Amino acid sequence: MIGRALVVDDDRHILEVVTFRLQSLGLEVTATGDPSKALQALRKERFDLALFDLRMTPMDGIELMVEALDIIPTLPVLIMTAHGTIENAVQAMQRGAFDYIVKPFRGDELTTRVQRALADRRLARNLERLQAIGRLLSSTGRLETILEAIVQTTLEATEAEGCAILLAGEKGEGLRAMASHGATPLPSERLHATAAQAMAKKESVSQEHEAGVTLAAPLMVEQEAVGALVVELSRRYPPSQEERELLQVFASHAAVAVRNAQELSRLRSGALAALGRMTAQVAHDLKNPLGGLKLYSLTLEKRLKARRDAKGQELAQKIAMAVDHLSDTVTEITTFARPREIHPSAMKVHLLLDECLQLVADRIEMKQIEVARHYDEDVPVALVDARELKRAFLNLIINGIEAMEEGGSLGVTARWEKEAGEIEITIADTGKGMGAALRERIFEPFFTTKENGTGLGMAIAKSVIDLHGGRIEVESQIGRGTSVRVRLPMKERNG
Ligand code: ADP
Ligand code: MG
Repeated sequence: MIGRALVVDDDRHILEVVTFRLQSLGLEVTATGDPSKALQALRKERFDLALFDLRMTPMDGIELMVEALDIIPTLPVLIMTAHGTIENAVQAMQRGAFDYIVKPFRGDELTTRVQRALADRRLARNLERLQAIGRLLSSTGRLETILEAIVQTTLEATEAEGCAILLAGEKGEGLRAMASHGATPLPSERLHATAAQAMAKKESVSQEHEAGVTLAAPLMVEQEAVGALVVELSRRYPPSQEERELLQVFASHAAVAVRNAQELSRLRSGALAALGRMTAQVAHDLKNPLGGLKLYSLTLEKRLKARRDAKGQELAQKIAMAVDHLSDTVTEITTFARPREIHPSAMKVHLLLDECLQLVADRIEMKQIEVARHYDEDVPVALVDARELKRAFLNLIINGIEAMEEGGSLGVTARWEKEAGEIEITIADTGKGMGAALRERIFEPFFTTKENGTGLGMAIAKSVIDLHGGRIEVESQIGRGTSVRVRLPMKERNG
């Protein structure tokens, strides 16, 4: 279907002829002799074209047109007139008609004029679509949302079977579908191949195959192809120049969205780095006075003990504990802000995990948490930075403990994934869990839901795992618990 047409004429014979001709052009036709029915239809449905007879009662074609344009201002209206006087035509055009046709129709005049009106209509609708995308781009939408909208619009504008945007990974890995739409699952191999071609050539390419044509336009950011917009057309003839250009325009909009997202993330990391430097300075300045405070409180406690002042001694202990907490926080912040590098040495991860559990033994005991350890025998010795990795695991374990009420259970496992060449460490708790929105943010530095939290634990853990070339994944269910899975690659292992 190339569009919907509305035909109004009080002459039934003309109505039949016009309907037939329009249908053979591929249009879906609503035909009526009654102008008020026509207006009703216009209010209910979307039309791409209207043909009105000039001489009708009680409402003539021009009056009908004026009301129709009130309902759909962009509707191309063709006025049919048997009395083809110039005045009638001029009047109709002045009041907003797209064109006029003289009855009886000569040759393929009807066809030509209808096609011209439809082309004009398409252009107008594409302009509308581009304006809508422009507005979306200037709003602060998420990249995914914008790309989804562009895919949807491209699908409508090109009348394709399917459409997708593929983006290259940042580290040069393969193409990834960011957004896709279509009636059936898209043939991903063909999309990928055509997208890759368009990116290599830095211009739109098409590929004909048994099911139709695949057309791709590259997404260009600073003269680099960062991805492609691809459509699947179910037809045999190659895409027109106009179609290629249209796709290229949509692709350039998608490219702008990608560039905006990249710049935003660059800005964010710049701001974070500055924030990190500042906090590091503040933390550094706090370190020495805190050390002093700790010392004084210990001395004070000793002296009060000697005087057998139990109440005073208890207070001194409380001060010492509060100072400890502050020192921990300061350490966490300075660690986070420090430029990161790792110093690997051969180490068994079991030992690291055991050391971490040892460090939190008192908390585990206090909360009566049951620890279930499971370490596979065949986990190989790994080249890791023990100190950093311990910090990462400790943060994960502490989060697990903090998420649980008394009597929860903490699972700590290490497995050797031989095929993948990875060690998989899982830290699972039966704590309060988290929803999707929270889970999305836990790696953000300074993001915390705890009154005394620093919000750095997960950020530190992630950056340590990243430095080891590993991955960290979090699965969680509210009320049931959280499971954090770390995968460390063993590529550097010798033998
Ligand atoms: P902090 O522990 O100081 O809050 P983190 O970076 O360690 O900072 O964690 C950030 C947030 O992630 C926590 O405040 C908490 O809301 C959530 N979180 C992390 N681990 C878990 C977990 N095991 N169970 C539930 N929530 C968690
Ligand atoms: Mg934490």
